[in-house]
Amino acid sequence: MSDLCGVFAVIGSSQAAAELYIALTHQQHRGQDAAGIATSNSSGKLNILREKGLAVDIFTEDSIKALDGCMGIAHNRYPTAGYGDIKECQPFFTDNNGIGIAFNGNIINYPFLKAQMEKEGRTFISNSDGELLLYVFSDAYTEKGFFQAVRAVQEKLTGGYSAVGVIEGKGIFAFKDPNGIRPLLFGKRGNKSETSYAFASESIALSIEGYNQIRDLKNGEAVFIDKNLGVQSETTMAKQHKPCVFEFVYFSAVESKLEGKSIYEVRRRLGQALASKVRKHWPELEIDVVIPVPDTSRPAADSIAKSLGIPYEEGLVKNRYIGRTFIMPTQKIRENALKLKLKPIESVIRGKNVMVVDDSIVRGTTSKRIVQLLRDFGAKKVYLLSTFPPIRNPCLYGIDFTNEKELIAGSKTIAEIEREIGADKLIYMDTEDLKEAVGLESTCTACITGEYPTETGHAKEMQEQRQRDYQKIATR
Ligand code: SF4
Repeated sequence: MSDLCGVFAVIGSSQAAAELYIALTHQQHRGQDAAGIATSNSSGKLNILREKGLAVDIFTEDSIKALDGCMGIAHNRYPTAGYGDIKECQPFFTDNNGIGIAFNGNIINYPFLKAQMEKEGRTFISNSDGELLLYVFSDAYTEKGFFQAVRAVQEKLTGGYSAVGVIEGKGIFAFKDPNGIRPLLFGKRGNKSETSYAFASESIALSIEGYNQIRDLKNGEAVFIDKNLGVQSETTMAKQHKPCVFEFVYFSAVESKLEGKSIYEVRRRLGQALASKVRKHWPELEIDVVIPVPDTSRPAADSIAKSLGIPYEEGLVKNRYIGRTFIMPTQKIRENALKLKLKPIESVIRGKNVMVVDDSIVRGTTSKRIVQLLRDFGAKKVYLLSTFPPIRNPCLYGIDFTNEKELIAGSKTIAEIEREIGADKLIYMDTEDLKEAVGLESTCTACITGEYPTETGHAKEMQEQRQRDYQKIATR
């Protein structure tokens, strides 16, 4: 139903489809279930190709050539939303006014609004909130134009979201929710012969394609770029700025920048904060080696090792042909994938007291298996460090932990979790240290603190709907 994804949009490029395809490959870590591209030239119809699978498997040279036009949008889909079939693949589009939309986030009041719109006669083809956002936008756009359409979305829909879109023959657009929870960046690339603009979920997708004037969209900001490259921007509805703190720790690529902060540097600072905590509270710990759980926690593990003066080694090797465990659609698939995912290097581990650093602990499944794996391969002691504080509350904004019952820290103390996963010591990041390492004035930390930046009415219905989606996927 919701989608935590990667989105990209471009206008003014003679190679729009190729650029969109390259962006999909650079944002593939944000969703591996499906990918899609919609393009338009300045007079034509939307050309759309969307399929389940990885971008490299979906698109060929010929299919990219067939996606004609100088403007377009692309979408990487995260596999937890809806029932996971082709109808859920984005971009979504309307036939009547040629609008395509690619959406990233979660709409909390989706089931309520969907039921209301169905009563009024609207037919939905999917169980994705991106489709609902498209219809709310499209209806208002026909009557009142672009900025009023964004305002209609921001007034009606509660949640955390970013969207990019294309209006056939007219231009591209992008907007964020009033709190700016989900990321979206804007870039310009220019030389004498060609200027293009693009929007992306991650800065790396822009900078790698030569976009050099890059900024984050503000919370509640909407931007429209017409076919003659006229840029209009307006903050249509702004509340307190609350970018997702989990993006810095886990979701965004380490080579990206978000809200002006290097993800890599933030993760190094997380490591320094954890090292200080270890020095202060557990100076007696005997640690022979620090290893990361690849790949996300590498910068943190390296800076912990340096700060503590302990060797850093690669003790676990990732099977590159298996996707991120966390974004597998069901617990069963996650568990099976995990068995094949990490392989230990015995000479690094055997006979040692191992400090293993992971980005976060959600359900505890991964941590338990890692601790066991390290013991199986001869670790004397296993100390587990998490660069994110205990996740005690569900995320209502698109990250895949909507169900509090699944969260190991939702009902257990740190001592109980330590016992459950079998670690000799479990050390979590402190919330204040996390905020300091990220270095922004304000962020969303609702999954840690329970303080949600938006209204949460209808959250229960949304969580129940999500559970039904999971079960449906699990029984496929
Ligand atoms: S609840 Fe947590 S994961 Fe969800 S948007 Fe807020 S910080 Fe990010």
